[in-house]
Amino acid sequence: MRKRVAVVGGGVAGLAAAVRIRDRAPAETEIIIYEQSGRLGGKLRTGELAGATVERGAESFLVGGPDGGESAAVRFVRRLGLGDRLVHPAAIPAALAIGGVLEPVPKGTLVGVPGDLSSLGTVARPAAGADADEGRPLLAPGADVAVGALVRARYGDEIADRLVDPMLGGVYAGRADRLSLATTMPALAHAARTEHTLAGAVRAAQAAAVRAPGRPVFGAVDGGMTQLVAAAAAATGARISLGLPVREIARTPHGWRLLLGPVPAPQTDDVDAVVLAVPARPAARMLAGVDLSAAAEVEALDYAGVALVALALPPGTPLPELSGFLVPPSEGTLVKAATFFTHKWPHLRREGGPVIIRASLGRAGEEQRLQPPDQVLAATAHAEVGRLLGGELPPPVESWVQRWGGGLPQYAPGHLDRVALARAALGDRPGLALAGAAYDGVGIPACVASGERAADDVLKYLDEQ
Ligand SMILES: Cc1cc2nc3c(=O)[nH]c(=O)nc-3n(C[C@H](O)[C@H](O)[C@H](O)COP(=O)(O)OP(=O)(O)OC[C@H]3O[C@@H](n4cnc5c(N)ncnc54)[C@H](O)[C@@H]3O)c2cc1C
Repeated sequence: MRKRVAVVGGGVAGLAAAVRIRDRAPAETEIIIYEQSGRLGGKLRTGELAGATVERGAESFLVGGPDGGESAAVRFVRRLGLGDRLVHPAAIPAALAIGGVLEPVPKGTLVGVPGDLSSLGTVARPAAGADADEGRPLLAPGADVAVGALVRARYGDEIADRLVDPMLGGVYAGRADRLSLATTMPALAHAARTEHTLAGAVRAAQAAAVRAPGRPVFGAVDGGMTQLVAAAAAATGARISLGLPVREIARTPHGWRLLLGPVPAPQTDDVDAVVLAVPARPAARMLAGVDLSAAAEVEALDYAGVALVALALPPGTPLPELSGFLVPPSEGTLVKAATFFTHKWPHLRREGGPVIIRASLGRAGEEQRLQPPDQVLAATAHAEVGRLLGGELPPPVESWVQRWGGGLPQYAPGHLDRVALARAALGDRPGLALAGAAYDGVGIPACVASGERAADDVLKYLDEQ
């Protein structure tokens, strides 16, 4: 009999799941994507500024995968026929804004964690007697720890505050003292289970990383992430329902019932299987009708809000030859990072075109500071970026502000165990699979891979029916 699969959540994880189901399920299988907002893509959203394409969400993805092959994101781009639109950033360095000076990010670090303490220059000094071999591995088998706790214990506060915190903050908008090592740096966690020093663990993790020679680290799609979203939506062949939230999921004798739409006008849909690819809070609400312990594990995940401010500066505005800079929290600015878009992305440069900076504002726990209206945030970003560059920027010719309230998961130590418990709790309810940044990692490759794995689980279940 013809099967029906619902994908709840139209972000990149849900889209990757839907494409995988289309590719591998019998042709007559019906796929329905339920997306509560008015558009697909979730955190992938391309905007426009002064005639240039500027991402309002994720900007790029890792090109290499953990196995040395191409990342799941690049494979997805190729599957969608967009391989010839892959673009890469210019090979220019990023900096750290420390004490009014832009310092080059030291080479050879792993998300800011150095493998060689003698190569840090003036950016940060290790504590006296740092990283002594105490005759045992840094991490017990199966254990997890906050990245900040490990780095402070081994190297001292300055390296944690000036190097690791801004680098992790650049990805997660989170604080090193709260983020799980096993989730945010799995390769380092793995090495720390055998190595006796942190420098040794960093070097072991770096040596184990297979990187194809000459392969760029990051990629993006010319024309923006929205191209990827549109191509993925087309490839799913799915019926796409926009603007209706799914509110509840319940088991039926033969599959699953979705309750959707506004409370006064509810609708239901009965399907054979579900991929749940929404952030933790809506996922936990839906799971409450399925398994309370799974719902509780999922709900434990916290999120940080961020705001992006894009500034188009007059053509020819001078900027240092950098891709941008990261700002340690100790500098006190609301701006935590800034990307010089038209420096970093050669395909965005136009003769006589504007100079575009995109600043990222707010860290975990600072949501209050993001409350002011858009024009205040834009003015703050403009003033702070100018100050961090050691002067004043000319007034922007155009700008926009994009808010991502609760946009970035904050994986606390033990996150992977909680996810495993949630999945195990759902194990006897097959045909319901969890996918996305709430579980398996924040980056686009991790979200694509997570969606594909969820699709495989659902396909296996349908095949066995
Ligand atoms: C500002 C920012 C910059 C980033 N930059 C990068 C980057 O450069 N590189 C990178 O790799 N990653 C980046 N990320 C992370 C990455 O973009 C996200 O982790 C990833 O896109 C999340 O995909 P997802 O499908 O798991 O979730 P989402 O994109 O959050 O999609 C979930 C979807 O579910 C929908 N939904 C929610 N509730 C319901 C409901 N009840 N019913 C139906 N639908 C529902 C939502 O509307 C949403 O569309 C960035 C994230 C942010 C916020």
